[in-house]
This record gives sequence, C-alpha cells and structure tokens, in this order.
Amino acid sequence: MVSIFVKNLTKTYQNRVKEPFLALANIDLSIRDGEFLTVVGPSGAGKSSLLRVIAGLDQPSAGQVLYGNEPVLDIPPSDRGVAILFQDAPLYPELTVFENLMMAAKRADLPTDEMEAKIKSLAIRFQFDARLGRRSEQLSKGERQRIALVRSLLYQPRLLLLDEPFTGLDPELRFLVRREILSWHEQTGATVVCVTHEPFDGFTMGDRVLVMDRGRVQQLDTPGRVSEYPVNKFVASFIGYPPMNFLAGTIGDDSTGFCFLMETTVEGSNPFTIGVPPALRERMGRTVVAGIRPGEIHLDPDIRSSANGFEAEVRRVDRFEEMAFVEVTCGTKSLVVRDRSEYVFTESQRVRVLVKRCVWFDGETLERIG
Ligand code: ADP
Ligand code: MG
Repeated sequence: MVSIFVKNLTKTYQNRVKEPFLALANIDLSIRDGEFLTVVGPSGAGKSSLLRVIAGLDQPSAGQVLYGNEPVLDIPPSDRGVAILFQDAPLYPELTVFENLMMAAKRADLPTDEMEAKIKSLAIRFQFDARLGRRSEQLSKGERQRIALVRSLLYQPRLLLLDEPFTGLDPELRFLVRREILSWHEQTGATVVCVTHEPFDGFTMGDRVLVMDRGRVQQLDTPGRVSEYPVNKFVASFIGYPPMNFLAGTIGDDSTGFCFLMETTVEGSNPFTIGVPPALRERMGRTVVAGIRPGEIHLDPDIRSSANGFEAEVRRVDRFEEMAFVEVTCGTKSLVVRDRSEYVFTESQRVRVLVKRCVWFDGETLERIG
C-alpha cells in the first residue's frame, strides 16, 4: 500500500510561559509497505506527536515525511489516504451510528448499496449491529471507540494510525478488536502503526516494535530481537511482564574466578556473586548492571541446596493461573520471580535465589554490553 519515511524529524512545542519543549528529536524511521508497526513507550515519550506529524495533523519543526517517494508535508491529511484513530475519537452526537458511518463511507467514494453492506458487515464483526439506529450520545465509551475504529476502516486508508485503540475496553472486547484489526490488516495489506502502552500488544501484534523515550527512538526491531537483545536498560525495563529485575554491582574476582559482585544490600555481609561471560572480564573493577528476567530465576526452597546464588526472603506471592509471581527481598533489594513450578511459596519463607541468565549493561552508559 505505502511505505513511510521519516527523516531527521524534530517537533518542538512553543509554550508561552516555559522554554520550547522538544517532543520529538531527530527521528529517522522507515516503515515498510504493508508493515504492522507497534509503538511503545512511557507517557510523554512522543508517540502521539509522531502519529500526528505522520498523519499531517501537525507540522514538524524540522525534517521530512515521505509516503513512498513523495514528500507529503504540503499535502493535507484528507488527501493522503491516511486514517488516524485517537482515544475518545468524537462522533457527531446528533446523528445515528449508521449516519455517522455513512459520512465516512461517502469519503471513500463507494456506491450507496455497497456502503450500506460494508457498514452492516463491519458492525456485525465489531459487535455493534444492534446499535446502528441509536444516536451516538446514547452509546457507551467502548461502543463509541469501536464505531470510531470502523469509521477509520471505512475510509479504506492505505495507512492506518491507531493511538491506544484498546484503552477503556473490557478484556473480551479488547480481544475482539485486536483480532479484527489484525485480520483487517491481513485482508487489505494496508500499512498500520499502532501505539499501545500494553507490553503484551506491543510485542505480539506487530511485525516490528518501535520503543520510544523522551522524543527519541530507542530501538526498532522485531519483537523477538528487542526482547532478546534490548539495546539499553531503558528498553529492557519496558519489555515483559513483570518487568526485568536489575542488580547493580562491579566486575571482580573471587576464589572461582571472574564474577559479578552484587552491590551489598545486607550490612556486614559479603557481596553475592554471579558468574560472568568471558566478554565481561576486561571490565575488571568497573560497574555493571545485571538485568534478570523474572522467568530466568530459580527459587530453591532448600537454602542449603547450593553454594551458588544467594539467600532471600519471600515477601509476597501473587498467583495467576498456572503461574506465581514471587517477590523476594535480600537486604534492601527486591526481585520478582515468575515461577511455574508446582511448589507453593509462602510469605516470610527463606529461599535460595539462583540466577539462570543475565543481560549485562554498562554501569555508566546503561547500554547493553556485547
Ligand atoms: P505520548 O503520546 O507518548 O504520551 P505526546 O506525543 O502526547 O506523548 O507528548 C510528548 C510531549 O510533548 C509531552 O511531554 C507533552 O506534554 C508534550 N506536548 C504534547 N502536545 C503538546 C502541545 N500541543 N503543546 C505543548 N506540549 C505538548
Ligand atoms: Mg499519547
């Protein structure tokens, strides 16, 4: 349908009282034709600003946006073949749902009977066919959100931009809307950019995921590669649920050789150690941060089972389906473990913490090592 190129894009907001605010800083981005790209990042990262500039609703302060090889900054949004869906997208309150949708379908230039058939079939797929005759002010928030989404689809855009489309939907509807968006994408081959703050959606829906923070691209890659090789501690902290654990320490050496000496969190005790890969040996004496996924820790109820790892106390256990999220503390440090074993941990129990695998970050730059 269309590929998108964002070149050296900067967006500053001029606030009257404060200094100009840099919302997007030197963004370079290529989105492939027909790609499904998800965008994740904390609130204020610049996700909505990026979508608005790509759609043409806002002009950038510098840089260029191209659809294919066509620069589009001078082309109004309505002539670009783009649809954008915001949270709380407004409908015309005095019109019925059907009339609201007909207005959108007209823009797509279809014959009337074809438009009507299309609206009906989408209304069934998105489960609001019983609401077509209602005025939109008589609808729930979740219904309005689905209708606004269908309106975006009726434009038959070659580029669909979705800004947190699942917010405020019940789990069942979320699942339905998510599935319908994916199948619409598959059927039309349109290019889709979907902003979400849910790590699950961000890492399962898209061909690639763009991780943003403070107006900058942190990483853009397939979900698998971002999960496996996060470029820095920020990206690592944003993936997975529960999020990754971090332990600060230094590279040193003990009786067994080179190792990671965890920052002491219990007064008077020796630092706990974790073995390190050869690549870290040249960092002797330097600070590093160990990133440990909650699923890559083994908790042993027998604290004398091994000389490795360290002892900790169970603080809290949350069970969810076949999993338990176990929070353990060791001095001032706490870690969350995702446990799939049959064993039932209880509060205040002493356990041995065995770290199976770490991702290493430089202690100063917080970039991933290796
Ligand atoms: P996100 O969607 O990732 O939460 P936004 O793109 O909405 O982030 O905002 C990025 C930053 O720009 C935020 O700090 C926000 O306060 C600021 N911002 C967004 N829109 C405006 C505006 N119209 N005027 C001034 N500042 C804005
Ligand atoms: Mg936003």
